[in-house]
Amino acid sequence: MWPFSQSAQEIELLQSVIDEMAHGNYDGAVPTLSGQLAPLSASLKHLKSTYASTFIALEKQREELTAIINALPNALIFVAEGRVSLFNDAAREMFGLRPTDKGKLLDELELPQSLFDAIHEFLSGSERRLDTRTTPNALMQTFQVSITRLENQATGQPSLHNANFVASFTDISQRAKTDALRRDFVAAASHELKTPVAGMSLMSETAQMALKDGDTATANAMLAQIHTEAQNLQALVLDLLDLARYEDIAPADERTDLIKTSKTTVATRRQRAQDKDIALVEEYHGLGLQEVFVPLHEADVVIILDNLLDNALAYTDAGTVRIDVEADAIKHTALIRVSDTGIGIEEKDFDRIFERFYRIDKSRSRVSGGTGLGLSLVKHAVEKAGGSIVVASQKGQGTTFNVSLPII
Ligand code: ADP
Repeated sequence: MWPFSQSAQEIELLQSVIDEMAHGNYDGAVPTLSGQLAPLSASLKHLKSTYASTFIALEKQREELTAIINALPNALIFVAEGRVSLFNDAAREMFGLRPTDKGKLLDELELPQSLFDAIHEFLSGSERRLDTRTTPNALMQTFQVSITRLENQATGQPSLHNANFVASFTDISQRAKTDALRRDFVAAASHELKTPVAGMSLMSETAQMALKDGDTATANAMLAQIHTEAQNLQALVLDLLDLARYEDIAPADERTDLIKTSKTTVATRRQRAQDKDIALVEEYHGLGLQEVFVPLHEADVVIILDNLLDNALAYTDAGTVRIDVEADAIKHTALIRVSDTGIGIEEKDFDRIFERFYRIDKSRSRVSGGTGLGLSLVKHAVEKAGGSIVVASQKGQGTTFNVSLPII
């Protein structure tokens, strides 16, 4: 006989609420029953509300965690039992992962080989965590990799197909390239500094010995050379300081009166031109030339004019050095043309002369106090303003540098 006074229908009702809850659905209402089923329906009500709030709290926590891992700039991949259980937006973007990649074995993903190498290295070791930087691959990609073992790893040496770990990848290709450039630059700069310093040391020894022997003529000659080398070194250090300045991002609101700065700079070169018996001509063309402003700090405009004029005077033995400044009001550009009747440059060197420390004729550059940095500084300054520089020259005939700068 049925032991309860209530209907089978009411029991079925309770049963269906429990089934729904088992499937994670807490929306259905628990019927309020009386009689013998009253305590059961009350307990179920209580249980349902406890479960529902726990479920909501867990869901909220899950959403927060997802937001956190998606906000991280580095790619994260969680691997459980060798399969991809979770990855963040950065991983999706970095490796082109799709939602369907979830659940795949890690080696089914198309990750760069250097990352698999790092994972294999990690799995074959016993450390809980591995931090490493991959060597650049064929695409010149470098990654900072950090892999951490998850605690629930079964005993024994894990393989790629049963391991539990979380891997974080940061694409540091750009930083690695900059580091390599910086290393090359420091090596080149040290070399440039070493040569004159070694020369000065040798010359000072010779001067000392000459003085001991009472040979003041040789001692004086050595001192004069040491003085020249010291000046060259000073020029190099000043150029290096200018280069260091370019590491900072330029403020956008700088502007300089090109005509005024040009006239001042040319004036400081008159004596040198006269000493070499070279005609130094300056001409200004274009409408309303009282003021032409370019988007650069005055020091940058001086770098451009100084270096171009110094080179023109240094690599010209006779003839004329001229600077023409032309403002094009329609195109909103200023053209600076520095030309000389000097030794000229072969076409094969047109690009290379803008490289740091590149000189066509090392000995001539050194004699004229050149550092090999001048044109690279000019190019930096010109490009900072969004301008351009081109060279035209013929060996033995002379050289013209054409600089174009925006007017503001
Ligand atoms: P440097 O300090 O040696 O002059 P730059 O970077 O200013 O270094 O120039 C690089 C090289 O380009 C010079 O060493 C020189 O060989 C060549 N050069 C630059 N300007 C001229 C010019 N007006 N005429 C001929 N050669 C030039």
